[in-house]
Amino acid sequence: MHQGGCQCGKVRYEVSGELVHHALCHCGDCRLSAGAPMVAWLAVQESQLTLLSGELSTYEGKNGAVRQFCPICGTGLFYRNAVVLPGIADIQSVTLDDTAQLAPAAHIQCAERLPWMGKLDEMPEFERFPEG
Ligand SMILES: [Zn+2]
Ligand SMILES: [Zn+2]
Repeated sequence: MHQGGCQCGKVRYEVSGELVHHALCHCGDCRLSAGAPMVAWLAVQESQLTLLSGELSTYEGKNGAVRQFCPICGTGLFYRNAVVLPGIADIQSVTLDDTAQLAPAAHIQCAERLPWMGKLDEMPEFERFPEG
């Protein structure tokens, strides 16, 4: 059993059963929705996901995409698409409490990946911020 929630804590959810499909999505739709260069998704059967508390805002995007987020703090949480992924609930997996223990297993939608995302290892790294 895994639990997760949004940044402000109003929305909490629970995932049961085996976690199988976990991937980093590089599609432009996910990027704009999150305001981030990629989004990690955990795909589960709808029956595995239970909303424990809070209310969700829903945004219906292109091609059947239905995205849900916390109306207070804006954290993106769930994606469903009855056309492409019937019966599946996609969870933005870094909202899980134990996300550090749950590594994604694949990159998907790489046809739309930002060109510099394949070169992240080449950038300098700082524990916090660069000095001066
Ligand atoms: Zn929130
Ligand atoms: Zn995507």
